[in-house]
Amino acid sequence: MLNPIFVSHGAPTLPFEDVPARDFLEQLSDMMPRPRAIVIISAHWETRIPTVNSVERNDTIHDFRGFPPELYELTYPAPGNPELAKRVTGLLDEAGIASTTDNQRGLDHGAWVPLMLAWPDADIPVVQLSVQTDLGPQHHVDLGRALHPLTKEDILIIASGSFTHDLSSWRNYAGQEEPDWVSQFARWFDKTLVEGNLEDLISYRDLAPHAQRNHPTEEHLLPLFVALGAAGPDPQVKRLHTSSTYGVLRMDAYSFGSAEA
Ligand code: ZN
Repeated sequence: MLNPIFVSHGAPTLPFEDVPARDFLEQLSDMMPRPRAIVIISAHWETRIPTVNSVERNDTIHDFRGFPPELYELTYPAPGNPELAKRVTGLLDEAGIASTTDNQRGLDHGAWVPLMLAWPDADIPVVQLSVQTDLGPQHHVDLGRALHPLTKEDILIIASGSFTHDLSSWRNYAGQEEPDWVSQFARWFDKTLVEGNLEDLISYRDLAPHAQRNHPTEEHLLPLFVALGAAGPDPQVKRLHTSSTYGVLRMDAYSFGSAEA
């Protein structure tokens, strides 16, 4: 049994930043047995219906602009796994969720940045699953639930987003102390996660303080709901890491243990 996890991927430059979140990701592989394969859900692939990439080898997508040239030279050529991609769409189909595959797409930075830090050899097969930003938290919990059987097959489900993600204000807060509107949201979300209050989590936009400000759009939080669902009913939620970068980007990570374990 491999517990699904959520990680915050930060800015694309994370591999070059000497910050606690990078150190945490570098140690991630020591915290678990080696996965047979990885299914990663990244905030940076948004589609209308769930889409799984099905390729022999993953291209590295440099889906950002205006960063230092050395960042564009980083590659993460992990093998794909068309068989696993098929299994993912099969499980979604069984759950009544329509999905499709994409036989071109590689890994975006939401996927390859954390994977490169955790498994630098790029030798574990990886498939990526997209998010459906318009469909909200419940849909993403359902996606995760459908994928729960994979956790019993030595397949790691990683959700990659950002615990808080107001990109419009990072320039104003970089180098400063975390503002209250970030801390209050993060505290509410952490408490509600650890308590396992799924109903409140799904309604976080109405209930959590400053939800709209921390997540003007939902795509960076929705992957977390996939990991939460993938643990099965009554997950044992554990915070693996907490820190922030640029004052307003919380880099928290969680593991979602199955109640069956
Ligand atoms: Zn991102």
